[in-house]
Amino acid sequence: MEAIVCKFGGSSVADENCIRRIESIIRADKRRRYIVVSAPGKREADDQKITDLLYLCHELADQGLDIEEPFHIIRNRFLDIARGLKVGLDIESILDEIYRQIKGGASSDLAASRGEYLSARLLADYLGGVFIEAAEVIKFQAEGRIAGITYELVAEQLSEEHLYVIPGFYGSDANNKIRTFSRGGSDITGAIVARGVGASVYENWTDVSGFLMTDPGVVDNPRPMQAVTYREIRELSYMGAKVFHEEAIFPVSEAKIPINIRNTHRPEDPGTMIVHKREIKEDIIAGIAGKPDFSLIFIEKFLMNRERGFGRRLFGILESHGISFEHAPTGIDTMSVVISDEELQDKAEIVMDEIKRVLSPDRIELFSGLALIATVGEGMAYRPGVAARLFTALYESGVNIRIIDQGSSEINIIVGVKSEDYSRAVNAIYHAFC
Ligand code: ASP
Repeated sequence: MEAIVCKFGGSSVADENCIRRIESIIRADKRRRYIVVSAPGKREADDQKITDLLYLCHELADQGLDIEEPFHIIRNRFLDIARGLKVGLDIESILDEIYRQIKGGASSDLAASRGEYLSARLLADYLGGVFIEAAEVIKFQAEGRIAGITYELVAEQLSEEHLYVIPGFYGSDANNKIRTFSRGGSDITGAIVARGVGASVYENWTDVSGFLMTDPGVVDNPRPMQAVTYREIRELSYMGAKVFHEEAIFPVSEAKIPINIRNTHRPEDPGTMIVHKREIKEDIIAGIAGKPDFSLIFIEKFLMNRERGFGRRLFGILESHGISFEHAPTGIDTMSVVISDEELQDKAEIVMDEIKRVLSPDRIELFSGLALIATVGEGMAYRPGVAARLFTALYESGVNIRIIDQGSSEINIIVGVKSEDYSRAVNAIYHAFC
């Protein structure tokens, strides 16, 4: 039978009512047989996430301090859920054991993973499903990559026609020690399970009805995306769109399994489909994303084009200072590097001095206070007029463009503008295409 993997994020399992809601979603479609859960998240804006509290407990224990207070909050959250759902599981003993583990020097990964563990144990019990210990199937290699055997283990252990519940966010390393993904990593678990079981779709249930074409904090009521490709979503999330865990794309994109972003509060909404290929009609542009706080080092040297190894030496200098760059637009006699301020920190002066010494440029300048905006769409590589539309819109709204970079992926036009022009620029681009 066709199968669907459903991943429910922290806000979808935050309390008893949320869990009842996801139960009806699961029961509404028999194909929803593989359930991946996060730890309970915030119930309201000023609430605490269980994972944050677990990290806090670990930190306190590490410093020999008391963990009573934060652990009490964790305990009560889970006890409330268990009581509310009337599950038979002896959750108290499990909580006691976790308390002992953290007090006794459990690693930060082990401590943090317990939120997902408890969440999945509770849900499995409530739904009458089979609990799968993620540590036994999700295997990490030394450098933090997922070991190939993981997919075989998933396929093997989840082969029967049951309802399975799997905790997100963690697995184990070669020494069988618990290891977590980076924050938000339950998305990755969902993707791995989807690929392992060969799901027809990976449903990622959250608290929004899919992705919006751009940041609603910048543009009023942006349209939701109906379909977006893996490549487009990768570019958008790289450029700051808070959508989906970047690393979660790879396991499913390789197997061409579509990801459907859905809203637990509005299950009737179709959400956004992340697909291998989308049909491009009017929607040439998938979305617009941006990030503030970049600097640009501009270098000019007459006959730079004839000098061998200029770029290599320039990048070598950046590398020796541990700086990674974002873009490097070049001209005949000019070369610029765009670096995020977070990377550059206070190293600008020292780096510029070294560039002067090693590369003897005629001119070198630092421009700060830049924002980068990426306009992403698979359609743009084959359509004339996309760039013209974008640049006309920026011109008409009076935005001066400092950098233009089409990127080798050809599905992305990046412009760098002054930070104070950011919102105006994003609005202009959005309204030019939507
Ligand atoms: N609970 C983890 C976090 O808060 C992982 C997740 O929810 O995906 O980051």
